[in-house]
Amino acid sequence: MNQLLLDLSAVLLLALGLRGLAKLRTARMANGLAALAIGLAVVGLLVSQGLAGWPWMLGGLAVGGGIGVVLALRVPMTAMPETVALFNGCGGMASLLVALGAVGLPGPMGLLATVSVLASVLVGSITFSGSLVAMAKLQEWLDTPAWTQRQARHAVNITLALACLACCVVVVQGQPWGLAPLTVLALLLGIGLTLPIGGADMPVVISLLNSYSGVAAAAAGFVVGSALLIVAGAMVGAAGLILTQVMCTAMNRSLTSVLFGGALGASAGAGSGEKKEAESYGRITSCSAEECAMALEQAERVVFVPGYGLAVAQAQHSLRELARLLEGHGVEVSYAIHPVAGRMPGHMNVLLAEADVPYDQLVEMDVINPEFPRTDVVIVLGANDVVNPQAKNDPSSPLFGMPVLEVDQARSVYVVKRGLGAGYAGIKNGLFELPQTAMVFGDAKAVLNGLITELRGLGVGKKALAAV
Ligand code: NDP
Repeated sequence: MNQLLLDLSAVLLLALGLRGLAKLRTARMANGLAALAIGLAVVGLLVSQGLAGWPWMLGGLAVGGGIGVVLALRVPMTAMPETVALFNGCGGMASLLVALGAVGLPGPMGLLATVSVLASVLVGSITFSGSLVAMAKLQEWLDTPAWTQRQARHAVNITLALACLACCVVVVQGQPWGLAPLTVLALLLGIGLTLPIGGADMPVVISLLNSYSGVAAAAAGFVVGSALLIVAGAMVGAAGLILTQVMCTAMNRSLTSVLFGGALGASAGAGSGEKKEAESYGRITSCSAEECAMALEQAERVVFVPGYGLAVAQAQHSLRELARLLEGHGVEVSYAIHPVAGRMPGHMNVLLAEADVPYDQLVEMDVINPEFPRTDVVIVLGANDVVNPQAKNDPSSPLFGMPVLEVDQARSVYVVKRGLGAGYAGIKNGLFELPQTAMVFGDAKAVLNGLITELRGLGVGKKALAAV
């Protein structure tokens, strides 16, 4: 089969795959289509190259595929954000290596090829080192060092950017050695740009690095003349930019303030496991799973608010079981999804989809917020920053201006968490002190299982079975 046909089929399959990823129901199949597209592109390349170098390709496929399978099987849901950051970085590194490899090919390079190589090396290196820093921060291996908050960091980054530009000029003038310093300087620039960014701004950074990896791949596509890589890179680049915009809006932050503003106020220590002391809270009401179950049994409308703690506890299946029980009892159940809940864009959607929560029960923030005043019971499960009313009421709060789930408007709120530990932004949450709020202390999974037992004890399961 001719290579153009294979390439076109691959591009078409990839576009269909990316389209399918927009919906949970089709996402699994879409992933398969995209993988098939990449497979076809590799076959196309093998055909066009007269099968030259195929042992290397098969070796690379085996090693890369093997690592992918092991990671997919072993990485827990809680570590997905770090994994996504690492994969973004691998994309950047791949583009960087492809571009550097292309320079070694025999024959002169035209201006387009040279510019493509430079774009690939520059953006690929920034993506690689920036993603590793983002991964280390999400993994809590790395804090935001105080010295990175000084204004002098801008001077350092501008100097690095200018030095990168100078190296590009050297390469365009026919001196390929300029690529070596360019790679090193761009790697440093990636670190310099990502290190100062605070914990709560990480969703934006991850989306942006995702976009960068697409741009680097598209540039690499020009280097090797692969239509698939150009199209795929452009699509990932554009999708990443759109996601970045969505995340910025969700956090009420401008992209410039995220990139150049440094750590978000008190969140400088975010992600470092820093916790607020329980003493910093005034009036706190706590209650048992039994009391919470009684409120659930009486409720007509219940909204669950999942957060990072739900992922930590791996409590999604228990949550689904509890929701089934309540639905069988005639309770209207929905799930409020904040765009930055968890540790990566779409974290809660993925988590709940794993437990077969119907997609139409996941309600976005803007849609569910007006519904809270007519909600009997809200159960906040391991969420903290995304339900913090200070984001609306307290201009001195580092979260001020970030749109939040307005659960404080509901008739009663039960917050399930292990203690009074702070969320990712590292700040106190006024919701916990409100008169309509009660804390149910404990691991989210244990508390949910306790609620299920209590509700069954109240006969909810039997009524549900009788209704069936
Ligand atoms: P938060 O990080 O604000 O809060 C999570 C809460 O979960 C903690 O207060 C913790 O309290 C509790 N918790 C931890 N483990 C358990 C457990 N086993 N059982 C019960 N509770 C537990 O989470 P949110 O989802 O509310 O907010 C997300 C935050 O992360 C935002 O600040 C966002 O900007 C940031 N972020 C989001 C990203 C994204 O792309 N979505 C990426 C990176 C950061 P305790 O210790 O007391 O149990």
